[in-house]
Amino acid sequence: MKLVLLGPPGAGKGTQAETLIDRLKIPAISTGMLLRNAISNKTELGLKAKSFIDSGDLVPDELVVGLLRERLLEEDCQNGFILDGFPRTQAQAEMLDKICAIDKVLSIELADEKILQRLSGRRVCNGCGASYHTIFKPSKVDMICDSCGGGLTIRDDDKPETIKRRLSVYHEQTEPIKAYYKAQGKLCEAYGQEDVKDTTKEVLKALGLE
Ligand code: AMP
Repeated sequence: MKLVLLGPPGAGKGTQAETLIDRLKIPAISTGMLLRNAISNKTELGLKAKSFIDSGDLVPDELVVGLLRERLLEEDCQNGFILDGFPRTQAQAEMLDKICAIDKVLSIELADEKILQRLSGRRVCNGCGASYHTIFKPSKVDMICDSCGGGLTIRDDDKPETIKRRLSVYHEQTEPIKAYYKAQGKLCEAYGQEDVKDTTKEVLKALGLE
């Protein structure tokens, strides 16, 4: 299955992708994570992308599409994949259609007030990229990753002003893509719940995987 996860930042796309990886036995590709890796490796692309990410704006399409195209050519993507955070613009959605045929698009919905609350408690592993939350999904040991033992940090773009900017970018540039996929008959929706397990139930139901 070639699945796209849509939804505002902080709706739980990354967390739900982790469950879907196990369930569908396909990898999840997060363009946000590919970009953050490029920044930590100080690649030319990473240096170009950093200022956009830090301000909460989208990285230009030509930088992100090249990075994604390369990743999708890797062996583990040949039986399908879950895209988390791509496409984010109409132009990206059209470019993706030229790269491959997407089967389904799941939009995870969550109100802006809840997102602000969630993102301010989010912690991310420096080592493997796993995502935690101080209230909703705490790590067993404070600021240490359960999976790899790496240190947890707060993402620079999870600061309140940047979160607000990311939300307005989502509403202006990404949300309209839902209509594009609805017209293709590929869109389904799930509503983010307080409890991660309840959101997972909604997600599996929406995808017909219960
Ligand atoms: P995420 O981890 O998905 O929240 O992405 C973090 C940041 O990376 C976003 O706020 C954007 O600046 C950038 N980014 C991630 N995916 C894309 C994309 N598909 N197009 C443009 N910018 C992106």
